[in-house]
Amino acid sequence: MDIFADYHAHTNLSYCCDPEITPEFYVDIIDAGLISAAAITDHSMAIYFPPSVAWSWDFIFDSTLFDEYREYGNKRLEEHLNNLAEYTKKGIIPGLEAEMMEDGRLTFDMSLRNKIKVLIGSVHYLPYGHLTDTQEILKHWKVHVFMLLNSGIDIIGHPFRWMEKICPPDEKTIRNAVMEAGRAHVAMELNSHDISPRTDMMMLMAAAECGTKISLGTDTHHPAEAADFSYHMKIIRHCGLKLSDLNLYEYHL
Ligand SMILES: [Zn+2]
Ligand SMILES: [Zn+2]
Repeated sequence: MDIFADYHAHTNLSYCCDPEITPEFYVDIIDAGLISAAAITDHSMAIYFPPSVAWSWDFIFDSTLFDEYREYGNKRLEEHLNNLAEYTKKGIIPGLEAEMMEDGRLTFDMSLRNKIKVLIGSVHYLPYGHLTDTQEILKHWKVHVFMLLNSGIDIIGHPFRWMEKICPPDEKTIRNAVMEAGRAHVAMELNSHDISPRTDMMMLMAAAECGTKISLGTDTHHPAEAADFSYHMKIIRHCGLKLSDLNLYEYHL
């Protein structure tokens, strides 16, 4: 059985993650030989904002909220990253999952970037879901994703999840995003939490063709999701691909 590194994993610092999941939880599954390493990529929104602000998503279009909570968040993020750094010898990679605000800034302070070894940028919410013209939504999403890919992230998390729910992207849109990620030296993520097989297959086929990196992540929020790469293997097989056909993202401690 292949043993993978998991490049997307949450702890109970993220509001949506089960309380028993801590850095030690991942150290235990690394020690048990189930994964080789885990990038702990908690939500920056949970580190920078209290739950009521985080879940309102208002900070996406009103970035003054980020400025208001910046000091509070910086202190929490720095403490968290310093804590994770204590576990690096045990296979833990300090990381973060951030959103991009509409002004183009990521939801953490760039002064802490050098402590973040795996930076995931994800679209969780965009303020266009209410628009009735799907072409308009697509246009806004494309601009947002282009900017996100060029914002200094290492991996784009679950690249099509939001769009697939609002207005399913076609093959050309997916292929263009994969090619832009390759140009920007950003890995596209194959994610097994809240799966999207249709877009994942199109993404993998395009990535196998043009060499864009693919990152394997479980996006663990619940213990049962940890170290489970069965979806990743199944969907790669369904594409008629082998792991060796893909340019896999790696980070070495
Ligand atoms: Zn996410
Ligand atoms: Zn996540």
